Amino acid sequence: MDFKIGVIKGDGIGPEIVTEAMKVLDKTAVRYGHKIHYTQLLLGGASIDVHGVPLTDDTVEKAKECDAVLMGSIGGDAKTSPWYQLEPAKRPEAGLLRIRKELNLFANLRPAVLYDELKGACPLKEEITEGGFDMMIMRELTGGLYFGERRTVEENGVLTAYDSLTYNENEIRRIAKRGFDIAMKRRKKVTSVDKANVLDSSRLWRKIVEEAAAEYPEVTLEHMLVDNCAMQLVKDPKQFDVILTENMFGDILSDEASMVTGSIGMLASASLNETSFGLYEPSGGSAPDIAGRGIANPIATILSAAMMLRFSLNLDKEASAVEQAVAKVLADGYRTIDIMSEGKKQVGTSRMGDLIAGCI
Ligand code: NAD
Repeated sequence: MDFKIGVIKGDGIGPEIVTEAMKVLDKTAVRYGHKIHYTQLLLGGASIDVHGVPLTDDTVEKAKECDAVLMGSIGGDAKTSPWYQLEPAKRPEAGLLRIRKELNLFANLRPAVLYDELKGACPLKEEITEGGFDMMIMRELTGGLYFGERRTVEENGVLTAYDSLTYNENEIRRIAKRGFDIAMKRRKKVTSVDKANVLDSSRLWRKIVEEAAAEYPEVTLEHMLVDNCAMQLVKDPKQFDVILTENMFGDILSDEASMVTGSIGMLASASLNETSFGLYEPSGGSAPDIAGRGIANPIATILSAAMMLRFSLNLDKEASAVEQAVAKVLADGYRTIDIMSEGKKQVGTSRMGDLIAGCI
């Protein structure tokens, strides 16, 4: 099949790690008989340098024409980069926020996988992590407390701040369906996380998630209160498959879940809209401290590309081949510097990409 992929190499280590992900995608395409056509897109500092703005309308239009977009990371060192002399609306991050909005990316997916080979980096006890774990946090990204009405007023001489948490049933239904779709491609279990013992928005969340579940009889649905979920993530992470939750709970729980996996260089992510389109990127930033040195870990970007194969291009077999290649290279003892440990073989960014591509 033929696919059109937008590529945002971005800033800092972005070009280095995206180049390796493209290397792995190209090898996968050859192996499985696909053709990938890349469209290079500018975002962030790279766009400011060429166009004077972090995102152009033309880039938005070109991104919309693609099946999916693979991105490195954007931004520079806020203290030294000239991009941060600009007004906030013209800085690199403004481009990222705008493209997410323009593409209507309402569902954020962050896998938290503990590879058996990297369990030394996990801060949890060995008896808890034995055999590794593999969960997917699905966070609503465009509603809830972060987008509700807010104000600070003085009432009888006392400063009082208000933030409102609003969800309507349509917003909940669309993310719930996405969550069940993802679970169908995994171990078919959804843990919906809320605070239904206190919040009206959570009671509506629970009701709509239950309605959506009726269309997915093969998926087991359970509900969990957010405080219990925070505890269960460190007590028994193996119990989770897909964790489905609203914006603020997801913000906090996804950071907690990713912390227990070890390095930032291993963490993939995806943001999806109502179609099969998605924007795929590593969870980390542009790491200006190590940019240009050929030592960045490309695995998060390569695993983001695997998510793209699975969720936007519907190529499950190919996605699994990439994930297995990553696991094989780790099992063979190869490590970039951020995940290096005694007795392992240290390699740079490009060699890591070669090794993974070589296992496809
Ligand atoms: P960062 O994630 O770039 O770096 C934090 C630490 O993790 C650094 O020590 C870095 O060297 C290391 N690191 C990150 N990715 C790595 C990788 N692949 N391999 C090895 N080590 C890695 O966070 P920061 O320093 O707070 O931010 C730097 C810039 O990135 C800022 O301009 C920030 O705004 C931007 N940023 C962009 C995104 C994005 O594009 N989505 C996300 C977060 C931060």
